[in-house]
Amino acid sequence: MKFISLISGSSGNATLISDGGTNILVDCGMSGKKLSESLAAIDMHADELDALLITHEHIDHVRGAGVIARRYNIPVYATEGTFASMETGAIPEWNVISPDADFEIGSIGVMPFSIPHDASQPVGYSFFSDDRKYTIATDIGHMSGYVLNHLTGSDTILLESNHDIDMLRMGTYPFPLKQRILSSTGHLSNDDAAEALCRLAQSGTEHFMLGHLSKENNTPQIAYMSAQNALSEAGINVGDDITLTVAQRNAVTLCEAFV
Ligand SMILES: [Zn+2]
Ligand SMILES: [Zn+2]
Repeated sequence: MKFISLISGSSGNATLISDGGTNILVDCGMSGKKLSESLAAIDMHADELDALLITHEHIDHVRGAGVIARRYNIPVYATEGTFASMETGAIPEWNVISPDADFEIGSIGVMPFSIPHDASQPVGYSFFSDDRKYTIATDIGHMSGYVLNHLTGSDTILLESNHDIDMLRMGTYPFPLKQRILSSTGHLSNDDAAEALCRLAQSGTEHFMLGHLSKENNTPQIAYMSAQNALSEAGINVGDDITLTVAQRNAVTLCEAFV
């Protein structure tokens, strides 16, 4: 199974899940043209996509969703609340999904789960194929026990590591925006991501990708170091025990297990 971040960050998100037979795109926070370029970099074409799954209606997740669904006739899956809040124009095929109700797309099993984020009915997704579990969890205001339960047992996880709290506090964002990001329905900090990583590594997850980094309030180096330091304090060595990759903002990133 391939788990590939096409773009990741506050300005746009899209992730490809593929087991060779079934190809699923999660979010399309990029133009149709940029999506085609990203897929070409991994020898794929948007014609090959079997489904587009949406996590929530924020523009960094749905920017190109309507365009690519129409252009390539791709069925779209989202919760009722997300559909009601998306402004994507006509979509050829809607599929309403519900948190904690699993479904299948081709040969891949999918389990959506609620995430604490300030959108209508946002979800993360776990994917199941060949006895493996892969999970995407970004845009999570805090790591609840419920979300941690859904992450547990995953072989590979794309986890949000949005901001360094000090950079955010000291930075130039207006106060209400800082409050929004720091709130329990905003975004996950590097510290919170690192703490979750330790627990998940201890329960058996082997491959981690950090994603949805803030452009203003984080750097790939700071996010990586914060996770690596916490893991090493917990006795987990990056490289030996687990792999750790930071998803690039504007370029395709393979999870290190597949490089
Ligand atoms: Zn969001
Ligand atoms: Zn987002």
